Amino acid sequence: MGEWININGEFVRKEEAKISVFDHGLLYGDGVFEGLRSYKGRIFKLEEHLKRLYRSAHFILLTPPITRREMGEEIKRTLVKNQLHDAYIRVVITRGEGDLGLDPWKCPRPTYFIITDRIQLYPETLYEKGLEVVTVSIRRNPLYSLDPQVKSLNYLNNILAKIEGRNAGCMEAIMLNQEGWVLECTGDNIFIVEEGVLVTPPTYIGVLEGITRNTVMELARAKGMEVKEEIFSRYRLYNAQECFLTGTAAEIVPVVKVDGRPIGEGVPGPVTCEMRKIFREYVEREGTPIY
Ligand code: PMP
Repeated sequence: MGEWININGEFVRKEEAKISVFDHGLLYGDGVFEGLRSYKGRIFKLEEHLKRLYRSAHFILLTPPITRREMGEEIKRTLVKNQLHDAYIRVVITRGEGDLGLDPWKCPRPTYFIITDRIQLYPETLYEKGLEVVTVSIRRNPLYSLDPQVKSLNYLNNILAKIEGRNAGCMEAIMLNQEGWVLECTGDNIFIVEEGVLVTPPTYIGVLEGITRNTVMELARAKGMEVKEEIFSRYRLYNAQECFLTGTAAEIVPVVKVDGRPIGEGVPGPVTCEMRKIFREYVEREGTPIY
């Protein structure tokens, strides 16, 4: 992990990086966050991540203590301070300190902090062999409770799904909505491949608009592939030729088995492998320079 943590613009050594027990981010999960990555000294999709962070904050009526542009500069400053080129970056904005009640109006000063870490990829064998996942009984938060577009500090919904997945011996879990439509995983979006066409659930059904998801759609279309945002059930998922997950930390992960059913040939398929290659090439080119 980077030695220096940025708390409200001040660099603090990680051992001394502390947040008040009265911070509502801790007491109530009242806050928002983003996970970004830098590749070879460039921050991948910085503007998109900042936009999503500030939209999440706006949704929960939280005014960040600094502007979007300033936050971008703080992220760069933190990477420079830690001399990192390839990193995972966590940005958190909390409601700040208040009393023991819920009332956000009693929290006068929001807190932000930035942690930069060396990236820990899944083991390479997982990308070669593919992942086995299960669907779980815990449903994703419905839009009318907490819109999954908001990357809030309240991830208990996803954590419960993860626990259910782990109890079934899987590292990831697929979450459905109340009607049983496939939404996304606990920390990744999902794609299936049907007759060479990429299909992913539309965001209006209640999935996070993943930045990796959007990038994959863009790159696939640029390669002349057909991409559809369409709702689908477990029936289509089990019978797809391929399936993969997308996310900032994991990038593109092939899925070879769902609920015990092999997907396609039960090995990472050609479209998934091609997308992985295109994506890797793209991340090396794209990005906001840090240095
Ligand atoms: N869904 C959820 C619930 C997530 O937490 C994440 C990770 N931020 C994703 C999807 C993937 O989004 P992204 O590609 O922007 O990392």
